[in-house]
Amino acid sequence: MLLHVGIDDTDSKEGMCTTYVGAVAIGGLKAQGVKLEEYPKLIRLNPNWKLKTRGNCAIAFTTRVKKHQIPAVKETVLRAVEELAELHVETTNPGVVFYESERVPVRLRKFSKKVVQDIVTIDEAEVLARKIGAEVHKFKLGRGIIGALAAIGNPLERDRTFELIAYRTPENRGTLRKVDAASVVRMNDQTFPRTFDNLDPFTGEIRITPHTPCPILYGIRGEDAETTLGAHELVKALEPIERFIVYKTNQGTDEHLRRAKVAGVKPYWSVIVEGEVSSAPKIILGGHVIFSMRDKTGEIDCAAYEPTRQFRDVAKRLIVGDKVVAYGGVKEKPELPLTINLEKLSILKLAPVLRKVNPTCPRCGKRMKSEGKGKGYSCKRCKVRVSASAAKIVEVRREIEVGAFEVPPRARRHLARPLVRVAYLRREY
Ligand code: ATP
Repeated sequence: MLLHVGIDDTDSKEGMCTTYVGAVAIGGLKAQGVKLEEYPKLIRLNPNWKLKTRGNCAIAFTTRVKKHQIPAVKETVLRAVEELAELHVETTNPGVVFYESERVPVRLRKFSKKVVQDIVTIDEAEVLARKIGAEVHKFKLGRGIIGALAAIGNPLERDRTFELIAYRTPENRGTLRKVDAASVVRMNDQTFPRTFDNLDPFTGEIRITPHTPCPILYGIRGEDAETTLGAHELVKALEPIERFIVYKTNQGTDEHLRRAKVAGVKPYWSVIVEGEVSSAPKIILGGHVIFSMRDKTGEIDCAAYEPTRQFRDVAKRLIVGDKVVAYGGVKEKPELPLTINLEKLSILKLAPVLRKVNPTCPRCGKRMKSEGKGKGYSCKRCKVRVSASAAKIVEVRREIEVGAFEVPPRARRHLARPLVRVAYLRREY
């Protein structure tokens, strides 16, 4: 029979990572001869959720087991969570879910989608678990059962990527990560775009190593598991690797985004909104760029924040009337209008900027001078005069072009689909 296992909320800002807890539990199961049906899943949940620790991720995996093996599987998973979770930290409230079923029911899939795109309560998770017959284990508040159920319920059907994660040995955690930067550049040269987000294209900064005190040494993201495994062989770690694992994930898939009209946009959602720029971009304290856009239903602010660097240059050059599609998370701040924190921006059509140009003299060809508003033009040298209607209206070249733009990898949400993936999926590589 199939046994699905979900785990979430084991880490804190000080350390640990749910992906590591999953890797240890899976390692323990393999040692007992229990095999996974497929790659384990790393599911990113709503990126706007305020109680997340970092990247709001949960993990799940499925094993095919005989009935008598089930108690040992549960025991191994629960022990890994008990031993590794940051239970001493108030905000860490782990949850584990076991679910025996050959199929993932529609209502669990719907719940899973809601956890990625919206907000749910612990009660909702418990009611659902009861209805479908899933077994939940709550540690402290047990908030993690939300993510654990959501990870089991995500079929990763429409799109998916993979991430190979290599972990540090305990004595090195919390110290500077030692990875040969040149080997990462070589790996990127050989595997991009089947792997992505290895380097920041503007600064050259290595992006596979995190900057948090968690056990991860590096993570390599890619289109398929084999490529991430090959890329891992190319990266030279200058410290020991305790273990590594490949997760199948919803990272880089845009699964968090939903199309919306301005009037329907809600806080904590991530949206795709099409409209027209309705107020000119302004740069506010801190270097953030803010403009408004409008559709038939209303007006909303859009923000390109300082860490998005070059992306702000695109936002800055928009003018009223430009037709755009904004992609991003919706933030609610006291006394401020709802704001879309831009992750991507498509410019569909640029509003024309027109400039009046003085006519040239029909005799000498030189540019004529204006005689004053509505009074026509004259050439001082040839003494020729022409009427005001002789002026030409020309379109000024804009400093931006129609196209799609995105924030750099350092500022990108885990769930946001990088433009390189869009091109890759369209077979443009
Ligand atoms: P890391 O990425 O390092 O694993 P994290 O950012 O995933 O950490 P958690 O420690 O897992 O953060 O905390 C998030 C908590 O919020 C979990 O208990 C999870 O079940 C819950 N949660 C996640 N998404 C939602 C949501 N959309 N609605 C309600 N609760 C959520």
